[in-house]
Amino acid sequence: MTIDSSLYCCVWLKNALAEVGDKGFGVMAVSGERRLFYLEAKPFDSAIDRKYSTRDASGRSRWPLLTDDEGLEVPYTTSMIIPLKHCPACGMQLKDLIEGNPDAFDALAERQRIANPDFSLFQM
Ligand SMILES: [Zn+2]
Repeated sequence: MTIDSSLYCCVWLKNALAEVGDKGFGVMAVSGERRLFYLEAKPFDSAIDRKYSTRDASGRSRWPLLTDDEGLEVPYTTSMIIPLKHCPACGMQLKDLIEGNPDAFDALAERQRIANPDFSLFQM
């Protein structure tokens, strides 16, 4: 995905915007009531996410339960989303990038939304 150069401050953010939706770190542009960048951390590939994120016929999660040596459930995360005020790599205030070119931000947000229908912020 090509990223408009007005929307990134450094190579890290450029790559994170282009690679959103894959296993690992990505940055999502979200236009809504507010324009914000979100850091998404995903430990699993999208195919695994889709396989386990649907609920079974009884409405229960398909994610396997993890237990410790005593049989107690061990919680784990399947994705984590954090709103970003600053670039995690270089510290740039992201509001300045967003307000500097809101049309490009909205266009990127729409392209990312279409390319990543499973992104959890769009399922709320
Ligand atoms: Zn940066």
